[in-house]
Amino acid sequence: MKFELVKLPYSTDALEPVISKQTIEFHHGKHLQTYVNNLNNLIQGTKFENADLETIVKESDGAIFNNAGQILNHNLYFTQFSPTGGGKPSGKLATAIDAAYGSFDNFQKEFETAGAGLFGSGWVWLAKDKEGKVLITKEANAGNPLAKGLTPLLGFDVWEHAYYLDYQNRRVDHLKELWKIIDWKVVETRY
Ligand code: MN
Repeated sequence: MKFELVKLPYSTDALEPVISKQTIEFHHGKHLQTYVNNLNNLIQGTKFENADLETIVKESDGAIFNNAGQILNHNLYFTQFSPTGGGKPSGKLATAIDAAYGSFDNFQKEFETAGAGLFGSGWVWLAKDKEGKVLITKEANAGNPLAKGLTPLLGFDVWEHAYYLDYQNRRVDHLKELWKIIDWKVVETRY
């Protein structure tokens, strides 16, 4: 299977000022494209040649895992945003967040704290377990909750390439701004 760069459901400048056009162009057009190119090269002639992305993430390691994980992570990341996003989740997802964290406000605080406390490069996720309970996971580098048998719902990228052009070292400021562009309707469909 040949993997392709995920299409953005918005224009490259649509998420400004939360994420600049320049950051989207580098992050999506350069960083993610490189992961796609790498994976397509790496899987040639291996047992993963015709596997889907989720299978590769669950079953691979090393360079294949790193590139496949980053493609899955970024596909979820870039499609969870909307220029008209923000607000709060509703329905079953909102109920599950309240059950796990007491309130949406408290969940946001814990999510930001997890992202701030992740040393180095990685991701903070809201994930769902088999019973429908939601939890926050911190993953280093290309990690995804899928590899732990969980379903990823929402992911914030804390690699510096996600925010350095716009926020420099101010990771927490970036994380706080991201809530304004979350398309909760998309996240709810993953629950
Ligand atoms: Mn990234």
